Amino acid sequence: MDLQFDVTSLHKAALLTKHHKLCLIAPALADAGFTLNVTEALDTDSLGMFSGEYIRTLSPLDCVKTKARLASELTGERFGIGSEGSFGGGPLQGLLNWDDELICLFDKATEQYVVAHAAGPVPLSPIDTDQVETIRSHLEKHDEKQGWICVTSKELIKGLVGFADIHHTMQQTGLLATPTKLSESIRLLPDLRAHLCPPRQEYIRQAAHQLAARLRARCPACQAPNFWRKDVKQGLPCSQCGYPTHRIQHFIHKCDCCSYSSIEIALEQFAEPTHCPLCNP
Ligand SMILES: [Zn+2]
Ligand SMILES: [Zn+2]
Repeated sequence: MDLQFDVTSLHKAALLTKHHKLCLIAPALADAGFTLNVTEALDTDSLGMFSGEYIRTLSPLDCVKTKARLASELTGERFGIGSEGSFGGGPLQGLLNWDDELICLFDKATEQYVVAHAAGPVPLSPIDTDQVETIRSHLEKHDEKQGWICVTSKELIKGLVGFADIHHTMQQTGLLATPTKLSESIRLLPDLRAHLCPPRQEYIRQAAHQLAARLRARCPACQAPNFWRKDVKQGLPCSQCGYPTHRIQHFIHKCDCCSYSSIEIALEQFAEPTHCPLCNP
């Protein structure tokens, strides 16, 4: 098995994605020696098969791994890359829109999957209104490149960007009753597709950078990539009494391909007594 691939030479990888993610992912991956191609074969019929029930029943992790494997299988390239975003998790579930972005590289030669992750809040909110001025001021609170979905009693119009675009659509559909008021209340929802959602684009870029870093992080024993923090050991001793706390004592790096692992000691030697169950019960 050829576990090593030289990061100083160029490798081709196929990217399986629909929504113009190439420009978000390619720069970081170029730093790790990969040039990416999105091929026509992937984006049309072959993807249609998997955008139905099959892929939606998978967890985001299984989904991104399936996409990466398919990218390799359908193009015959050794390396395939998939990207998958999911909304709704995060620390304040239900209160805060939260985006988890996964990017996976599959290596056909070794059957290894390298998965990178970035996540964060997506501060976007919908409104219901029949006032033109309310729409304008709502848009001003958001990134001007953010896309919107307009839901009326008759239709659902996606991919609207900016006040002028939305205003024009209101005119076209005959919803403008007067220059300031609509003939019915509409619902304006953020369009969360990657090419219309700047906060998502930022997390996809971050995940791509982590993927590049994981590809450069080599196992000291077998040179396979993704020699990365995969586990932690808690129990950093309290600075006052020495009792083990829940703070991290060290990180454990593990190889995906051989049994090698190593320990990375945490930066702190002791935990503050505020984290101690004895000193601060
Ligand atoms: Zn203590
Ligand atoms: Zn190894």
